[in-house]
Amino acid sequence: MRVINSVKEMQQWSQEQRRSGNRLGLVPTMGFLHQGHLSLVRLARADCDKVIVSIFVNPMQFGPNEDLEDYPRDLKRDLTLLEAEGVDAVFNPEPAEMYPDGFSSAVTIEGEIAQKLCGSSRPGHFRGVTTVVCKLFNICLPDKAYFGQKDAQQVMVLEKMVRELNFPLEIIRGPIVREEDGLAMSSRNTYLNEEQRQQALVLSRSLNAAQAAIEGGERDPAKIKALLWEYIEASPLAEVDYIEIYDGEELRDINTIECPALIALAVRFGKTRLIDNLLVEG
Ligand code: AMP
Repeated sequence: MRVINSVKEMQQWSQEQRRSGNRLGLVPTMGFLHQGHLSLVRLARADCDKVIVSIFVNPMQFGPNEDLEDYPRDLKRDLTLLEAEGVDAVFNPEPAEMYPDGFSSAVTIEGEIAQKLCGSSRPGHFRGVTTVVCKLFNICLPDKAYFGQKDAQQVMVLEKMVRELNFPLEIIRGPIVREEDGLAMSSRNTYLNEEQRQQALVLSRSLNAAQAAIEGGERDPAKIKALLWEYIEASPLAEVDYIEIYDGEELRDINTIECPALIALAVRFGKTRLIDNLLVEG
């Protein structure tokens, strides 16, 4: 497994692989890997000739009062896990390699899709995401790029970027991977103390209750939102950032739950902000 820190070397490696006829899969991550990340690596491994995983805690997608400094890191462990998955190359640049002095470009997606949900509670977040992913696409030159449904809005924004800016690649979505008790896996789960970890189960449990209500015929988003609020507010450590239901393609407002619809939650436990979602499909 090659570990590459330089943009130029990564680009050269990918160009050589493409010239040899290999189809490249890219899994972008911020490291501190768990089974959610590894599920995407396995999808790529099954689908592509060569698999690249990027590990880069992207400063541009963190707000000034967010957890950039505290974000968990363990490169040694990550590399061991990726080696065992048969990954071909790991791209692990320093921030200065990605954003040299004077860097001033950005890719932004206008419109509701990037302004609602995390776009409104984390101003500038998606601008950071689209910019870094655009750079990763130009550096790693993938045929396919893999993103988790865990970050539903992120993958929607990136699909739109790829479509509208004509990137010659395909985005593949992987399903949400959960702990046995239902908590969606996240590198940020390590911030939770025992009590918060237990109460964090309200995210997946409330989504399960919403799903059951929808399967039972409920189509009123206001009623489903009320049900979610009731569940989550019953947990004393939970502080709701948002509970929203939009259409599952462009995040438009909806009056009736029709497929696809996205039910999205962001809830804080102390300083830790967790997200989870349910895509209601036909
Ligand atoms: P991150 O390292 O948190 O930026 O995540 C890197 C990629 O892994 C993103 O595409 C995430 O959506 C995906 N991912 C993170 N957690 C999960 C999970 N629990 N299930 C599936 N994919 C995930």
